[in-house]
Amino acid sequence: MIRRTASRFGLVADVHANLQALEAALAHFEAEGVVEIWCLGDVVGYGGDPAACVELIRERCAGTVRGNHDAAAVDPRLRDDFNPHARAAIERQAELLDASTLEWLGSLPPTIELDDVLLLHGSVADPDGFSYVMGSSDADRELDALVVRWGFYAHTHVPAGWRKPPEGGVPQRVDIPASGEVRLEAPGRYLVNPGAVGQPRDGDPRAACAVFEREGARLRIARLRYDVAAAQAAIRRAGMPAFEADRLEHGR
Ligand code: ZN
Repeated sequence: MIRRTASRFGLVADVHANLQALEAALAHFEAEGVVEIWCLGDVVGYGGDPAACVELIRERCAGTVRGNHDAAAVDPRLRDDFNPHARAAIERQAELLDASTLEWLGSLPPTIELDDVLLLHGSVADPDGFSYVMGSSDADRELDALVVRWGFYAHTHVPAGWRKPPEGGVPQRVDIPASGEVRLEAPGRYLVNPGAVGQPRDGDPRAACAVFEREGARLRIARLRYDVAAAQAAIRRAGMPAFEADRLEHGR
């Protein structure tokens, strides 16, 4: 389904039940006057406040695509590929979520098309398989499957970008700054990960989110300090693995 959308919108990815980080991202959008926000999936998993994060995302986002953790909260068979920490966290969260929240998670679409933009969690080529885009051959597979100008993805928790020129050939890496603006305006198709809100893994513990402006194809990435200690306390309180709390202060 193709939806029309604003000329400027916010992106949140990999919130992972981190309420403090999500609130920081929403406050940033509010300060920037960004009213339309889209979510690239993994609202739940890992963090201490899954229900509150789902509630806020439902209230504030125009739409959300399905992440692998969102799917695994609903379908236990999908937890088989998870590492032990991730699995323990999603098992605990599934106990904490009520039926209507689980139903909403189960209803999320694998992709959302907004005119010339595609929102996805892990893979365009295989949205339900949740492959990772880690290197140029993954990006090549994905860019071949992408039929619109810009694809925004999540899943790796690391900001990254690729461009496939119209003449074809190997995708070129696009430098996505830790914070600040990058213009995605050269000819060809782009695949860009704006970084994770709730569990960054690029060594920077601050929450990442982005604003995309079609005019000039400007993507502005923000890195936001938030109350990491409170997010860690929520993880311990909810009975999630301590490893998931510890990693937040390292951004790994
Ligand atoms: Zn994730």
